[in-house]
Amino acid sequence: MSISDERRSQGVDAVVVGAGFAGLYALHKLRSQGLSVRVFEAAPEVGGTWYYNRYPGARCDVESVDYCYSFSTELEQEWDWSEKYATQAEILRYMNWVADRLDLRDGITFNTRVVTAALDEESLRWTVTTDTGESVSARFCVMATGPLSAALTPDFPGLGTFEGEVYHTAHWPKEPVDFRGKRVAVIGTGSSGIQSIPIIADQADSLVVFQRTPNYSVPAGNRALTDSDIAEYKANYAERRRLSWRSGGGSPHIAHPKLTMEATAEERRAAFEKRWELGGVLFSKTFSDQMTDLEANDEARRFYEEKVRAVIDDPEVADLLIPNDHPIGTKRICTDTNYFQTFNRPHVELVSVRRTPIQSIDTTGITTSDARFDVDAIVLATGFDAMTGALAKIDIVGREGHTLRDDWVDGPRTYLGLSVDDFPNLFLVSGPGAPAVLANMVLHAEAHVNWIADAISYLDTHGHTAIEATPDAVEDWNAELSRRANASLFTRANSWYMGANVPGKPRGFMLFIGGFATYLDICNEVVSAGYKGFRLLNAS
Ligand code: FAD
Ligand code: NAP
Repeated sequence: MSISDERRSQGVDAVVVGAGFAGLYALHKLRSQGLSVRVFEAAPEVGGTWYYNRYPGARCDVESVDYCYSFSTELEQEWDWSEKYATQAEILRYMNWVADRLDLRDGITFNTRVVTAALDEESLRWTVTTDTGESVSARFCVMATGPLSAALTPDFPGLGTFEGEVYHTAHWPKEPVDFRGKRVAVIGTGSSGIQSIPIIADQADSLVVFQRTPNYSVPAGNRALTDSDIAEYKANYAERRRLSWRSGGGSPHIAHPKLTMEATAEERRAAFEKRWELGGVLFSKTFSDQMTDLEANDEARRFYEEKVRAVIDDPEVADLLIPNDHPIGTKRICTDTNYFQTFNRPHVELVSVRRTPIQSIDTTGITTSDARFDVDAIVLATGFDAMTGALAKIDIVGREGHTLRDDWVDGPRTYLGLSVDDFPNLFLVSGPGAPAVLANMVLHAEAHVNWIADAISYLDTHGHTAIEATPDAVEDWNAELSRRANASLFTRANSWYMGANVPGKPRGFMLFIGGFATYLDICNEVVSAGYKGFRLLNAS
């Protein structure tokens, strides 16, 4: 047996599944606490989201200077972001640089998918097995599998028979894709579709966009960062991060001091105008009550509609592109560069599949209920089985043979989005029940990993083997999530937050909407109260 085989068979303190932002930080943090850690990553490289989503136009929608690790001043000061919203390629470069800078690569086994994780109830250890035949025993299992990592390909009849090129935005090839001279179809108008459509339109001979639900999209306002921008953000990083950690969404945004309808019409307009000019997703947080008060939301929606109508030439096309079935912000607002203007171009056509559904795809194209489209390439921008999809692909077996998949058959149930009853020492990073995708996900991952690392220290200091959420804590937390969601406008949209995009998936709001800082306060209170809602266990 070679030295490395021997090391591998010995077992570790923690297995981490996934090497995206969350998994990389988990490896660094747990190692620096003296734990032995193995990371398994299905992809051949680090990056997670930013490894897979290489479609044209892919960028972050949280400002680059905020959408990066905050735990190390050195990392913050050494890396220069080149644009307000970094491209996928730049974010992936950053993640690779962090992996090298922190010597993380030797802890990661790439091209290896975790297929099972099973608890031994006596030792309270987990046995993790992979699709390469490895089996590792670990005291802790950290699922950094990503809330948006299980791509969704709808079951369009005949898709498999199409003889042209088919791409999914979340599995974009590494080799450049050249749409020049081609007739292209894009299906889906979420963030991925909306970012890629203008660029695909620049290349393709013709482009037909199949839209089911129109989406709200705000101009990103992307721009290159100058040397003085970089110097300024670096000089003020500490304050920027302080504001982010105390914010509702993990970035240093401060809403208008008045509620929407307390402001005068002029103040309201000026506030919306200012936020619109700044660009991006934070338009939905111009006023703090936009997501709870329909009248307030409607003010934002009307302003939005006026702005978008103004840039679309054909009023009938504008009618199709402007949402009228859900309040603004109740699905994640998309950010774009010239998305709506793209539909003014003569070679771009919009098809509402609400009006005329896709009936079939054959060897050469797509047939809807009233037309036929011959195309050379189909781009599926059809999203993800979000929050639960990646976890459901793993056989996670807890107490008495319970599987996480079966326990969640009516929808996910967690305590704080971090832990589940019957699954001691199994931690979720950015799992359902946390703010997760409603916040800057890099800071969110750091917060979860820090919480998990502290819990492990606590167990060791106090001589316990394991920590497990109680069923009552899980029930109460789920009730709290529903109470908060039902008091907001979020449940009025058929969003992926609700599981509504996946046929057969149970409907229920899967995120904590009370805000990032409030959530962190709750997590800290749980700790201060001696891990309230958890049982601390000793192996028999
Ligand atoms: P991921 O990056 O998804 O990494 C999870 C990893 O786990 C993947 O590499 C996957 O291969 C691996 N994995 C899963 N299951 C297994 C298994 N069984 N075995 C082995 N490996 C496994 N969030 C923001 O806050 N701001 C943004 O601007 C933003 N932009 C986004 C843009 C796109 C196109 C997408 C899709 C998402 C975006 N998000 C954004 C959300 C994004 O997913 C998070 O910000 C963040 O990258 C998630 O990091 P993660 O490590 O939790 O998960
Ligand atoms: P998405 O928001 O779920 O969008 C998927 C699109 O495909 C929707 O328009 C959906 O229509 C459509 N669709 C799905 N199934 C369909 C079917 N059977 N027939 C026709 N249309 C169908 O997915 P996404 O665009 O990949 O984005 C997911 C999330 O990832 C975002 O919300 C965001 O959090 C993150 N993201 C961020 C960025 C960024 O700007 N940084 C970029 C990409 C992704 P319906 O709306 O009707 O379901």
